Amino acid sequence: MATLRFNALQETLNRKPIQIEEYKKRSELFAQHVFSDKAMLQYMTKEAYKSVKDAAEFGHKIDRSIADQIAVSMKNWALSKGATHYTHWFQPLTGATAEKHDAFFETLADGNAMELFDGGKLVQQEPDASSFPNGGIRNTFEARGYTAWDPTSAAFIYGTTLCIPTVFVAYTGEALDNKAPLLRALQAIDESATAVCKYFDKNVTKVTATLGWEQEYFLIDKALAASRPDIMMTGRTLLGHSSAKGQQLEDHYFGSIPTRVMNFMRDLEQECMLLGIPVKTRHNEVAPNQFEVAPIFEEANLAVDHNSLLMDVMEKVSQRHNFKVLFHEKPFKGINGSGKHNNWSLSTNTGVNLLSPGKTPMKNLQFLTFFVNTIKAVHDYEELIRASIASASNDHRLGANEAPPAIISVFIGSQLSEVLDELENVTKGKLSPQEKTDLKLNIVGKIPEILLDNTDRNRTSPFAFTGNKFELRAVGSWSNCAGPMTVLNTIIAKQLKDFKKEVDVLIDTKGLKKDEAVFNVLREYIKASKKIRFEGDGYGEAWEKEAKKRGLSNHKTTPEALKAKISKKNIILFEEMGVMNKIEVEARHEIELEEYAKRIQIESRVLGDISRNHVIPIVIQYQNTLIENVKGLKEIFGKDFEQYASEQIDLIKRISNHIAEINSKIEQMTEKRKEANKFKGQKNAEMYCNVVKPFLEEIRYHVDKLELLVDDNLWPLTKYRELLFTR
Ligand code: ADP
Ligand code: MG
Repeated sequence: MATLRFNALQETLNRKPIQIEEYKKRSELFAQHVFSDKAMLQYMTKEAYKSVKDAAEFGHKIDRSIADQIAVSMKNWALSKGATHYTHWFQPLTGATAEKHDAFFETLADGNAMELFDGGKLVQQEPDASSFPNGGIRNTFEARGYTAWDPTSAAFIYGTTLCIPTVFVAYTGEALDNKAPLLRALQAIDESATAVCKYFDKNVTKVTATLGWEQEYFLIDKALAASRPDIMMTGRTLLGHSSAKGQQLEDHYFGSIPTRVMNFMRDLEQECMLLGIPVKTRHNEVAPNQFEVAPIFEEANLAVDHNSLLMDVMEKVSQRHNFKVLFHEKPFKGINGSGKHNNWSLSTNTGVNLLSPGKTPMKNLQFLTFFVNTIKAVHDYEELIRASIASASNDHRLGANEAPPAIISVFIGSQLSEVLDELENVTKGKLSPQEKTDLKLNIVGKIPEILLDNTDRNRTSPFAFTGNKFELRAVGSWSNCAGPMTVLNTIIAKQLKDFKKEVDVLIDTKGLKKDEAVFNVLREYIKASKKIRFEGDGYGEAWEKEAKKRGLSNHKTTPEALKAKISKKNIILFEEMGVMNKIEVEARHEIELEEYAKRIQIESRVLGDISRNHVIPIVIQYQNTLIENVKGLKEIFGKDFEQYASEQIDLIKRISNHIAEINSKIEQMTEKRKEANKFKGQKNAEMYCNVVKPFLEEIRYHVDKLELLVDDNLWPLTKYRELLFTR
């Protein structure tokens, strides 16, 4: 009998929901473990508080004596909450978060001990970072890396550790993490967007990018997960025949949440509350055992930190509830995968959402300006967006037959499309008073009403306008939002900068009024970016053909998609916007290619091992019982036996054929891996993608066939129906 599998099933069936203590009011828990404004004001001098705020808002430097004061306040607050350690919390290019804990505890010369923490330790640390991916930056410069405090994201206590959000950079200044380029991109968009806002409102002095992510995930029982080496090693099932019932009845989406899962969610939400992660929404997703959690949106850097932290918290809390959480974009073949929608907008210090129309014609023109510029930016840099969401696991969604497709397009709904179509006809140069009025009142003016009853929904678009924000839906559930958010904010910052230049030229040299100039430039943008707009079904082959005709990219694999990151155009973009220099861009590209190849390499090895060492021995065992059976039938029936044994003989043959195929394909795959390993970078990734990866499906085909042939009692791998439907 397949002991591990059946023990795991038994264990799962015996589970009782883990009870949790629930607080009545979430708001009372909120940010209890965050060194928030409230906590700062309580623990800090006014002077220290002001310098933290200035640093966060204007990037002002904090001098050392103030840093010491801040550190002591932070320590006192942390100790009052039961913390014993502190860490610089950062996001290296592994995509996960990293932390190295140090105790506050120090011994003193007189033999006593004390809890100590000073400004130096707060502001800068030197983690032994040689084992983090750096794409050759650290070798090239023989520089060490250091972490530096990011005062825009508040410190928090996780467990008994004070976590200080930091950037991670080389001594030569190159970013070694996800946060540093994001902060630079956010700075760039602040500058560009604020300058454009001044056309409409002189009081705007700061523009913040906002992000509300929606995190999808699967939960499966811990014991079932542990019974599957593929899930444990790669985060997904490499094998497994589809179950008779999958998601075809569509009975899971928004259905009632099972008790064990509900307790996990409540527990998770309370942890999030303490950490200041404003989670608000929870529900079942489309696939069995698939769920979603979403917060109230926040400033983008904070939201990115919160998403990274959330993923970590989810793993810990799921353990408590005897679950394993799967973030992989496609854990189960034939079943919907997971994504992480990134809802994005821009918000001013005066409290205006720039992607939400206003009450006056001028406010609506402002909306239109940001709306059209966003579309234009996505048009100009669609390949870079595609590259920013590329990963081995996300390829299962984007390149394969699942939404959204690998083609980047923008959906805005039919009514806004009509508005843009009308604006294409705006007169060149000066506008007559009549036309101006007409534009402002009848065309742009009707936008607010349009959005009120905007029922247009298109679930297949990778980048959709959803009423008062854009939603980048192609981000992988496993990825760090920093990558796509860095790109999105950079390209829009660049676009707005160019827009401002063009409008100013029309005002200064052509004598156009501000609004005339804006209309004139927008008209040209609408025309120029038309091909990125698509309102139809993004799934179908028809769109692939149409997109090709339009000249849109359709990169189905990561090695293809990543090329855009190091194109001349995009390196110039990153350098111009001060987000990354050439070295940083190239280093990241190298790391991502390497990570891609490694992921496929691991999958390939794991598949070889499971097929050969777990599956085939069991299959042979079963085949032997068939052979015994045939021998017995022959003994009883003599030469008539074939009539009774034909089915078994056929099975024996089929099993042998599958075994032979599996073995030979594993051999070939191993050879191809050896060949691939002779190369580095692009070629290495391409070999893994085009030469090694196809074997994964080919081998799987035969193993999955065997699953249907072999005695269920013997089958060693927990089956799809058990993984997806046992709770
Ligand atoms: P759905 O898109 O699933 O219908 P909602 O429209 O309620 O759901 O919003 C989804 C997400 O969008 C939430 O996380 C929400 O906080 C976020 N969101 C709403 N407004 C903004 C905004 N102005 N900027 C960024 N995110 C936003
Ligand atoms: Mg959504």
